[in-house]
Amino acid sequence: MKSKSPESAWDVALEQLDDVAKKINLDPYTHERLRHSQRELTVSIPMRMDDGTPRVFTGYRVQHSLIRGPSKGGIRYHPDVTIEEVRALAMWMTWKCAVVNIPYGGAKGGVICNPKEMSMRELENLTRRYAVEISIIIGPAKDIPAPDVYTDAQVMAWIMDTISMTQGWCVTGVVTGKPVDIGGSLGRKEATGRGVMVTAIEAMKYKGIEVEGAKVAVQGFGNAGSVTALLMHDAGAKIIGVSDSKGGIYNPKGLDPHSVLEYKAKTGSVIGYENADAVSNAELLELECDLLVPAALESQITEENARRVKAKIVAEAANGPTTPAADKILYDRGIFCVPDILANAGGVTVSYFEWVQDLQAFFWSEADINERLRGIMVSSFDAVLRTAEKHKVDMRTAALILAVGRVASAMKIRGLWP
Ligand code: NAD
Repeated sequence: MKSKSPESAWDVALEQLDDVAKKINLDPYTHERLRHSQRELTVSIPMRMDDGTPRVFTGYRVQHSLIRGPSKGGIRYHPDVTIEEVRALAMWMTWKCAVVNIPYGGAKGGVICNPKEMSMRELENLTRRYAVEISIIIGPAKDIPAPDVYTDAQVMAWIMDTISMTQGWCVTGVVTGKPVDIGGSLGRKEATGRGVMVTAIEAMKYKGIEVEGAKVAVQGFGNAGSVTALLMHDAGAKIIGVSDSKGGIYNPKGLDPHSVLEYKAKTGSVIGYENADAVSNAELLELECDLLVPAALESQITEENARRVKAKIVAEAANGPTTPAADKILYDRGIFCVPDILANAGGVTVSYFEWVQDLQAFFWSEADINERLRGIMVSSFDAVLRTAEKHKVDMRTAALILAVGRVASAMKIRGLWP
């Protein structure tokens, strides 16, 4: 498989795999197999828009690996979706599931569309037709989608309903991230932020930083970022800065994220919150703090600004917020990074719990879910840290070494058929 542009997500994904393959002396054939998706499906989605215009959209579902179990990964609706991007994201899902040792392979889906310009009816029709097209490869025992950029619990409900209608029974386990009323899990909405909080606190313990009073800056005050801020605040840390797409706010004495969240719900942004100074998103990344949580977009910490990051720890709630060049700079400067495939794996972990509860038709309490999530995040953090120490590498490389090693081992044990 060839990539399009020199620094595409797929290039980065392959580079990471090649680097780890060298470090763990992976046999060349296993390495070659892992460089390919197991399956890639391209589908056409014909639709009639609200004004009567007929249109054909393109969608993808890529399954990178089904070696350790059914594949798992979100569905993205975005005008910039490409097969290369979906392929890279699917590979990263394989590693993420393997890092936290849940019995899944990796997959990802995407539809090239602009949901911001579509009505609810159009979105529902697009979703249902896409669901039917990919139904030949998804299912509770095969591949289980979830929400991603611009898809949500409602989109998952439409997919679950479409698959159930076409099969004639209630197939709750076909997607996760569903509303609780139709087999969703308690704690799923907060799971990513909770996992970030747990791993960030483990990192602070390791670096000898007291949580009480520790200064925290969070870029992106959406689902992942706001929950991380709330939970770190409740654990005793001081949230000194938060931001959203419009800009950020800063108060060295600490902000109350509960009140900032209420303010954002009312006004649509954190901007203008009382008792705080305005900061730009770029400035927020360079605040003097103990913990920096990028929780917005990819490629925020780059070769250009990495030397100015003053945090002692970076915990990546977002996917891919640090470029490979910046990674090296942070590592050389002694900044400890909890990489995305570990830090934000709480989301897929509780998705796994949702699927397990759906299959058993037996639902757990929120306290149970949070405790199980904590157990998995702490033991995964420990396993990655031990790998980093053993191989004398940064935490991202360690997480990949652990993940690729687990997948390669499963491949070897299963053997090659026929
Ligand atoms: P979200 O849409 O709820 O929140 C995104 C936030 O980022 C919003 O507050 C938005 O205003 C802000 N933002 C957008 N552009 C920005 C910019 N240029 N600068 C600063 N802030 C900006 O999304 P989310 O679900 O919280 O996802 C955030 C990141 O976390 C993404 O990278 C996503 O892939 C990753 N992630 C989320 C989950 C999850 O379960 N929600 C799981 C794993 C990874």
